[in-house]
Amino acid sequence: MTNHVDGLLKFIESYLGSEGMKVFQVLLDSDKELSYSDIIARTDLDEQTVRRVLYELNDLGLVVYRRVQSPEDGRFVYYWFVNSYGLNQVLLNRKRMTLEKLKARLDHEMRTVFFLCLNDGIRMSFDEAIESDFKCPKCSSLLVQEDRNPYIDSLKRLVDKLSREIEDERKSVST
Ligand SMILES: [Zn+2]
Repeated sequence: MTNHVDGLLKFIESYLGSEGMKVFQVLLDSDKELSYSDIIARTDLDEQTVRRVLYELNDLGLVVYRRVQSPEDGRFVYYWFVNSYGLNQVLLNRKRMTLEKLKARLDHEMRTVFFLCLNDGIRMSFDEAIESDFKCPKCSSLLVQEDRNPYIDSLKRLVDKLSREIEDERKSVST
């Protein structure tokens, strides 16, 4: 989980800047809800920035607030906290995007594998090899895969691992 939170903080930083990351970190570290003045005191940011960043974080579904009306002057006070449900959703979506990228890369790597005929040195792409049934068009002997790409195996393992994680988390988030 810690790794994913690191990734999420980087994502927030790239999206909302270092102010966004600061505010989110303060809320993440806090075990209770925080008001504007709490957040301002802990981040050294001005009120306008804190408000803007909180609305943006809220927009992303990462933080939520509770509104309380003061019995004395009737003013509303907002208490902010991390939306753990939204957090899981955002992390899950990030994982899904990563999985899609890995799958595309794996597909590309698979298609750049070459096949050889050891008898006459004919070299064919994956697609060409499929078309000729992995047999040499000249001598019909079975084609062998050119120096097996170790990258493909690690990509496959990564895709499997991530798919399982996403499936497990999807179940736990939706229940
Ligand atoms: Zn051949």
